[in-house]
Amino acid sequence: STPRTPLMAGNWKMNLDHLQATHHVQKLAWTLKDGKHDYSAVEVVVVPPFTDLRSVQTLVDADKLQVKYAAQDVSAHTDGAYTGEISPVMLAKLGVSYAVIGHSERRQYHGETDELVAAKAKSAFGQGIVPIICVGEGLDVRKAGDQVSYTLAQVDGAFDGLPAEQAAQAVVAYEPVWAIGTGEVATPEDAQEVCGAIRARLAELYDAELADGVRVLYGGSVKSGNVASIMAQPDVDGALVGGASLDPEEFAKIARYQ
Ligand code: PEP
Repeated sequence: STPRTPLMAGNWKMNLDHLQATHHVQKLAWTLKDGKHDYSAVEVVVVPPFTDLRSVQTLVDADKLQVKYAAQDVSAHTDGAYTGEISPVMLAKLGVSYAVIGHSERRQYHGETDELVAAKAKSAFGQGIVPIICVGEGLDVRKAGDQVSYTLAQVDGAFDGLPAEQAAQAVVAYEPVWAIGTGEVATPEDAQEVCGAIRARLAELYDAELADGVRVLYGGSVKSGNVASIMAQPDVDGALVGGASLDPEEFAKIARYQ
């Protein structure tokens, strides 16, 4: 089986305007290039607000930076009367590699359903953008011990109708809602339990070889001090980092994770 390239994605959420973004990406790039550490085996991705993407693209292109960039969301439609939405066609033109889909904040505050998440995943793939599909349970579900079945139902929903060629490229981020922005990180065992179950479900939905190649990330209060033990888990292939990604040096530390 092919080894899975670790993916470290920094979700800025609704922070950093385009000028701050320029500053941030330059700092991050310098840190990645300072020669003190080797980042060649890791994919480093920043996930800025839409309004920053053009500036980030200019910077990445001009300096041939080894940073990729992603959108925080994408429309399920390609064009038309959808005020406020951003088309995957527009994102593809900006050189966006990934789109975060179904983040818990979008599910919570914008009512996104599994059906919409599936539609957005297809919409992204349609333009060559790889979705980072977010799943994960809230505190009530965790307390009831239902985290695996709850999260797998979201996986089923997101992959519904997705052909194997696309599913093989998709990235899944397991983000327990109770661990997002709370400082309460899941234990490595908690992360492994659900990330392993996600991979096993993909093997059922498709096949074992496909599941073996899909990257499953963990997200929820990841910091440089806790990332190593999480990354040591066999089914964790990277991290989706929120708060800690706003500091480029801390994010670089997370990205090298040893
Ligand atoms: C996130 O927004 O995906 C996230 C994991 O946030 P934080 O790292 O701040 O918990």
